[in-house]
Amino acid sequence: ETSPVTVTVTGAAGQIGYALLFRIASGAMLGPHTPVRLKLLEIPAAVRAAEGTALELSDCAFGLLHSVDVTDSPASAFDGTDVALLVGARPRGAGMERSDLLEANAGIFGPQGRAINDHAADDVRVLVVGNPANTNALIAAANATDVPRERFTAMTRLDHNRAVAQLAIKLGCPVTDIDGVTIWGNHSASQYPDLTHATAGGEPVPALVDEAWIESEFIPRVARRGAEIIDARGASSAASAASAAIDHIRDWIDGTPEGWTSAAVVSDGSYGVPEGLVSSFPVRSVDGAWEIVQGLALPEFSRERIDASVAELIAERDAVRGLGLL
Ligand code: NDP
Repeated sequence: ETSPVTVTVTGAAGQIGYALLFRIASGAMLGPHTPVRLKLLEIPAAVRAAEGTALELSDCAFGLLHSVDVTDSPASAFDGTDVALLVGARPRGAGMERSDLLEANAGIFGPQGRAINDHAADDVRVLVVGNPANTNALIAAANATDVPRERFTAMTRLDHNRAVAQLAIKLGCPVTDIDGVTIWGNHSASQYPDLTHATAGGEPVPALVDEAWIESEFIPRVARRGAEIIDARGASSAASAASAAIDHIRDWIDGTPEGWTSAAVVSDGSYGVPEGLVSSFPVRSVDGAWEIVQGLALPEFSRERIDASVAELIAERDAVRGLGLL
């Protein structure tokens, strides 16, 4: 057994939190030999519900679960944190302007970034799930001035997993045959799920499916999958989002098995994405750090789609700056 890892989950009483915590405690994220200390952060009104989840975690008698703390204080929630999963966010209310949404979330992710800066472990890894995830990650990173920016990421792994699954269904092959899929840009409807470099069992995917299917079925299906789930389930996706968060952290720590995956990381200017934006790229995890896969050719169609999604990220960043929050 290795020494315990401290994992903080915000919005712990929410749907995704409920789907996430039991899998973390069972070892799905950090492996079967790593004990976990869980710290659950909630807003005061939801602390009682989070305590209820903590009671259930206790009732599972997980061998790896060393402790569970519930708090509404970011300073104590991020004390010694190795892995921070920022799930809680302010949802868009009826009649809410986009600037109100960005402002409300900056009021959450700014203080959390500062608390991470002041209290978390030096090598903390942060994954933002709460929307607008990319810009929330940007705000948190900007408020954690002593933490290297590459420690802040946002989740596009669910979009990636959805793309892989849709392609496997189309080709009638196992998901494990698929490689080289990329989600570019923002975790929003403007995202670009890219099959240009994808392979299935080593065969180039563009030779196996026609362009019309990619453009008029595959891309919209992946980008609007969230709405399809809400329609069918009567509630937004939760277990699949939690599963993707676990995949993201596991790969970040252990390395990507082969090929690449997708994650939103701070841009270093690769592929013309302005430096500093938190944008989704093809990434590999090597020695515990994300690396953007370099040198992929971008045909005109890809270039336009990436530029459109990145333009949305620039607009979000500028709106937050305009509010004096960045
Ligand atoms: P969920 O647990 O369903 O969702 C949490 C966040 O994840 C939302 O911002 C949601 O975005 C986002 N998300 C990202 N990707 C996905 C996806 N693929 N599918 C679904 N959601 C996705 O929300 P709940 O309302 O059930 O719970 C939120 C909890 O957070 C509440 O308990 C609330 O009290 C808490 N909270 C905690 C804060 C804190 O700890 N300081 C601050 C604010 C809230 P979207 O809204 O776009 O669906």
